[in-house]
Amino acid sequence: MRIDVNALLGRDIAPLNYSTKLTLNGETLAKHGPGDKTLLSATTSIAMMSHTQPLELEISRNLGIDELVPLRLAVPLIVGWAAVIWLAMSHRQTRAERRRHETKAAMLKQEAMLAHAGRVNALGEMASGIAHELAQPVTAVLSQSQAAKRALAIGRQDILAKALDANIREAKRAGDILGRMRAYISGAPADIKLVPLDEAVRAAIGLIQADIKARSIALNVEVPSGLPIVPIDVVSFQQVIHNLVRNAANALAECPSPLITLRARREESGVAIVVADNGPRIETASLHRIFEPFFTTKAEGMGLGLPLSSRLIERMDGSLEAFNDCGATFIIRLPLGEPS
Ligand code: ADP
Repeated sequence: MRIDVNALLGRDIAPLNYSTKLTLNGETLAKHGPGDKTLLSATTSIAMMSHTQPLELEISRNLGIDELVPLRLAVPLIVGWAAVIWLAMSHRQTRAERRRHETKAAMLKQEAMLAHAGRVNALGEMASGIAHELAQPVTAVLSQSQAAKRALAIGRQDILAKALDANIREAKRAGDILGRMRAYISGAPADIKLVPLDEAVRAAIGLIQADIKARSIALNVEVPSGLPIVPIDVVSFQQVIHNLVRNAANALAECPSPLITLRARREESGVAIVVADNGPRIETASLHRIFEPFFTTKAEGMGLGLPLSSRLIERMDGSLEAFNDCGATFIIRLPLGEPS
């Protein structure tokens, strides 16, 4: 039997828009048209009222995209969608920007608080530092004044003059330290001058020699002449040497043959000044902490000498390091003052 399904639909219906399926007892006999590939379709079925051949014709009207969304509707729809998407995106962007601003404001507030806390902390540190640094010249002034009084009582003009000279020197030094501290707090740059290194080291030794001798400690100075010129803040440099030598002297208190070595040498890209002792060495557990403010292993210590020294050297573009050798060794490294 031949069934022309298109003829069943009529001539005026374009077969492209329709698909047909003819079934007999659920079994497909013929199928025409695009079938499942259409976007949307409306289907109806017609049953042939025949007992012997209960044919069923299923007709689907296939709807294309152009029929579903006509062009005159498609354009405003696309424009509408684009507007909605644009609005959603700009809203999201505004929200993200606001959040960014809020985060930035919170960070700035936190930074300001931290900076304030830092300043308060630094001020406390500096106040302790000033007390620490001034203790030595003030003690010297006291002992020299007592010596002057004794010299006066016994009529020794020579000792009196010497004691007064020492007093003037120490008072000047205290004034210099205070001036340097004031400059440091106000953020003023270090008072850098170009000085021959051997001269700077010898001047620093001059300030500590008497104290070392009084403690019966041997001082070995290895400072060759002709060392290069270095850019240093002279008072700060003396302060650092003084701190390192005083620490070494304290560490040597129980040593049978105490020795402090002060060495200066030229290095590849600068100079090195070494302060070494033959004392009990820095406790291994403390080695990485000794430059922390207020870290001390001494009952009477303040833990400010090394952190302060390290900062003063950094202000001269140098560095201060510590390690254990025969005893404790500290190395100051400084850049050269002029190309050579
Ligand atoms: P302070 O002398 O008040 O303790 P410092 O900052 O000068 O403060 O020194 C910190 C610590 O470093 C000292 O308490 C000590 O433990 C250690 N230290 C410094 N110099 C020496 C040294 N020459 N030998 C052994 N330990 C040292």
